[in-house]
Amino acid sequence: MSGGGTPKGFPTPEDLGSVDLQTTPLKGWMDPKINFEGRRGTWSYPAAAKNLKALKMHNPREWSPADEDWKLPKDWKKTIVNGMADRLERFRSFKIMMDICVRCGACSDKCHFFIGTGDPKNMPVLRAELLRSIYRREFTTAGKILGGLAGGRELTVDVLKEWYYYFFQCTECRRCSVFCPYGIDTAEVTMIARELMNLVGLNINWVLEPAANCQRTGNHLGIEPHAFVDNIDFFLDEIEENVGYKPEVPINKKNADILFITPSGDVFADPAIYTLMGYFLLFDYLKKNHGFNWTMSAYASEGGNFGLFTSNEMIKRLNAKMYREAERLNVKWILGGECGHMWRVVNQYMDTMNGPAPSNLVIPKSPFTPTIFENAASTKMVHITEFTADLIKHKKLPLDPSRNDRYRVTFHDSCNPARAMGLLDEPRYILKNVCNNFFEMPPSTIRENTFCCGGGAGLGNDENFEMRMRGGLPRGNAVRYVQEQHGVNVLSCICAIDKATLPPVCDYWAPGVEVAGVHELLANALVIKKGEVRENNLRGEPLKEESEATEGEE
Ligand code: SF4
Ligand code: SF4
Repeated sequence: MSGGGTPKGFPTPEDLGSVDLQTTPLKGWMDPKINFEGRRGTWSYPAAAKNLKALKMHNPREWSPADEDWKLPKDWKKTIVNGMADRLERFRSFKIMMDICVRCGACSDKCHFFIGTGDPKNMPVLRAELLRSIYRREFTTAGKILGGLAGGRELTVDVLKEWYYYFFQCTECRRCSVFCPYGIDTAEVTMIARELMNLVGLNINWVLEPAANCQRTGNHLGIEPHAFVDNIDFFLDEIEENVGYKPEVPINKKNADILFITPSGDVFADPAIYTLMGYFLLFDYLKKNHGFNWTMSAYASEGGNFGLFTSNEMIKRLNAKMYREAERLNVKWILGGECGHMWRVVNQYMDTMNGPAPSNLVIPKSPFTPTIFENAASTKMVHITEFTADLIKHKKLPLDPSRNDRYRVTFHDSCNPARAMGLLDEPRYILKNVCNNFFEMPPSTIRENTFCCGGGAGLGNDENFEMRMRGGLPRGNAVRYVQEQHGVNVLSCICAIDKATLPPVCDYWAPGVEVAGVHELLANALVIKKGEVRENNLRGEPLKEESEATEGEE
């Protein structure tokens, strides 16, 4: 069973689920005062000075949001206003998003944090207004002359504190943008707000510690290259113990066809580690039966990119290692693992920020089928579910879905692959081929409309647990629905952050439902040798429930 960890004395789901969904306040919302001390459990700890120093970011110091004095630089206000001017100049989308919102309210009830808290400032429209009001005051004639009458607001220390509270209460999931008739993307507004806060030393540790680790070692967890190799070895032994095969994993191999990069969460914790084991079984099968020539890198050992939750400059800095390693190892293209925000960065930003791809990289073509991944012509990076779905479609994988019969499975569309790449059908195609029992959650909660896990964008830390559970309410509610209707006991997904944040969400809102990666279920069903008898799944559990196994023997 995946780890849960609801703290002792935490409110019951019945208590936390009784939310008073307020309507937009007509007045009073401009008052920014937040009682941080009284709201513990709903905010994240600030970034430690050592991490700011490591990343050469501004104003490293130790402080707490509950302190009166946040130790801001003397000229903090000028710095923020100048930073805003600079970004209005450089990012046309930012200027447009500041100007065109008509406050129609179509987005207002679409955010999981609003649904889970009832706090109007968690309505996407009002969240953006926290920044927009400063924009009006500082950059529009009406706002400069009329101030509050024109929706303008003075930038004060309390406003900055309010930004910290609410812009680190947005997971940048982009669900609100799906419903905005003007295409306003509040996640992009949050990204700019976080960039501005960085200028005066305001960020959270759960974002900057992984970013600092990644800069130092190549992955968010801070695993040194030699330890990365040891970790992989450990998992190979685990696979052998659980299913009786020990795959081979090439690392830092030059001139392989494909470089495989996955989020480091996969080499760290349950249940993501079973996804990693799933990739290894699949690749080993492909190597032994079709000569798959692949490698991992101990240096580009992270697919995720916490730069996305920090700044554009940081995205670029942390992503650079992927192309550099692909060049050094002289591979033909890059295959990427099950990750959420990795794919938003790759699909939406990498080309502009880190491109063009090194000249040794070619338009990805499957080594086993006639498929050319034209969608990856520019980035030269293919998502693992596209790769595997294609193998299944071309009948390259012998599969026995009955091996997953102990599971009744549903699928959570991770926000970024779903909304930033439109990767909706490939994971479902795989699941329907490797499981006999698959059930969808209600349509308003899946595909483009999917609800966030509540812990993305750096918010998946322990101190923010109440807000995570509140934000996880809509997803947990939909899981509970299929649990009650169809007996669902597994929530599958293709994101490493989901694999860390959804287990507590399920334990809290739909106890009894476990979380599993798509490639874990794929590898359970994969028949590696003709006529093989496999007794256990990748978790070392019997493939059949005990009662079923006994009935069979009788
Ligand atoms: S991006 Fe997601 S978390 Fe942020 S305001 Fe929109 S719906 Fe809420
Ligand atoms: S849906 Fe778009 S235009 Fe309407 S309030 Fe929300 S952000 Fe503004």
